[in-house]
Amino acid sequence: MYPMGYPDMIKSIKFDNSFVRELPEDPETTNTRRQVLSSCYSRVNPTIVSSPKLVAYSREVAALLGFSKEFCESDYFIQVFAGNLMMPGMDTYATCYGGHQFGNWAGQLGDGRAINLGDIVNKQSKRWGLQLKGAGLTPYSRTADGLAVLRSSIREFLCSEAMFHLGIPTTRALSLILTGKMVERDMFYDGHPRLEPGAIVCRVASSFTRFGNFEIFTSRGEISVLKQLVDYTISKDFPHLGKPSPEVYIKWFEEICRTTADMIIHWMRVGFVHGVMNTDNMSILGLTIDYGPYGWLEDYNPAWTPNTTDAGTRRYCFGNQPQIAQWNLAKLATAIYPLIEKTKPLQAAVERFEHHYQSGWQTMMAKKLGLIAYDTGKDGSLIKELLEILSLAETDMTIFFRKLALLDIPGFMNNFEIQALTTPLMDAYYIPDQITSGYKKRIYGWLEGYIQRLNKDNLSMKKRRKKMDAVNPKYVLRNYLAQQSIDKAEQGDFSMIHELLEVMRRPYDEQPDKKIFAEKRPDWARSKPGCSMLSCSS
Ligand code: AMP
Ligand code: MG
Repeated sequence: MYPMGYPDMIKSIKFDNSFVRELPEDPETTNTRRQVLSSCYSRVNPTIVSSPKLVAYSREVAALLGFSKEFCESDYFIQVFAGNLMMPGMDTYATCYGGHQFGNWAGQLGDGRAINLGDIVNKQSKRWGLQLKGAGLTPYSRTADGLAVLRSSIREFLCSEAMFHLGIPTTRALSLILTGKMVERDMFYDGHPRLEPGAIVCRVASSFTRFGNFEIFTSRGEISVLKQLVDYTISKDFPHLGKPSPEVYIKWFEEICRTTADMIIHWMRVGFVHGVMNTDNMSILGLTIDYGPYGWLEDYNPAWTPNTTDAGTRRYCFGNQPQIAQWNLAKLATAIYPLIEKTKPLQAAVERFEHHYQSGWQTMMAKKLGLIAYDTGKDGSLIKELLEILSLAETDMTIFFRKLALLDIPGFMNNFEIQALTTPLMDAYYIPDQITSGYKKRIYGWLEGYIQRLNKDNLSMKKRRKKMDAVNPKYVLRNYLAQQSIDKAEQGDFSMIHELLEVMRRPYDEQPDKKIFAEKRPDWARSKPGCSMLSCSS
């Protein structure tokens, strides 16, 4: 039963599929689109594909799972992670969840194109769930096809790994495989569908459970299933909280509020905009999950959203992310309320989110500025003024903070010296004409205050730069870079995917030979689809 050549490797991989073992299963076994009641999941097989081809894999994720290089480069690996072959111990299923989409309850959603393969328990006894995205229809596919196209799969694959290397909690990506099948997509929803190459990403996370996995049961009054899922989640992913009880449920929720806040602080630090923060896209572990029409801030603009569907209300724009996270947490609180039946502690936790976020954000901003610690008395106005200045002229956020670390400040400085110091910052601006004398006056004024503040800390330039460069990335997966790698891949050239994956492994390092990937967005990309705005079509 083991294919020739890899038996030992496969034998050493241990699956432990507790989700299917411990939670209620959908009794209906046909793979038809329907409402699935009182069940956490439905068993379903991936659709067989004709000619899968490996585009890329992440060696770090492979290592987590105990997969060798030979295994990842074998035909067996391609067949497994295209969904054609099951490794011994795999058990495939799709989970049932609901969600609030754009502020409204949307009912049952579920894994419409994600098929779980089961959990690997690695040599360090760590559990890793595997999931194929784009592997065909499930009972939760609603009106869609269960498939994913190459462009969105490249974006998910690269960004998952880029986020991990930036130190941001995220689901991971093991592999990116072309299925060999073309998939029809109307990218702009304008009645002009085209055929695109189909692809499958294997995602990896200790849990893929979303807020919506809990909401669905409460919305249907299926409280005993809700309790089973909550207890399961606590015992598997929050064992430090102890045996489930109403007190533990509250502690659990408080922890979710904190980890969610921490994730958003990271997003704000690097300029990441998720784009679709629906409650079905919020991980119970505070992981960044479901890379769809996400984007990276280029010019600092809190109102920017990458998602065309969201262009009208900008609900999910950069600056709204903390408030939306809190709104989503309130929905989760409502979902678990029947197990606690006390409003106050849940409400208090949702309110404390704000405090936790605020103080974490201040600490993060102080780090971005190279300060030893956030000074409550003074730093608030310093940061506020900087953010206002950053949005006055189109300023590349990533470049600005890297250049700011280069300011060489030898003690007291006069006005003239401050002006000379700003030369490196000029690289961060998109439109030179916007750097008017009024603008300059304002930024010189800010720099004067900033320099005074730095002198108070009295760190050497070398030390300050090291601190700043450790939190201000040089390389992020700029929207136009991802798009360029997609354009090439659609022509059969995958080299840029590999190159970006490599560069994004060390986002805080200078990497002088990769400088081209740290440059400002070129002008041609300003309004090109994929480089500026994206639709949900994927
Ligand atoms: P998203 O907005 O991508 O987070 O997806 C919302 C819901 O739609 C989830 O239940 C997805 O599983 C489902 N979905 C999105 N795209 C597809 C697709 N191509 N086929 C089936 N279900 C999909
Ligand atoms: Mg989703």
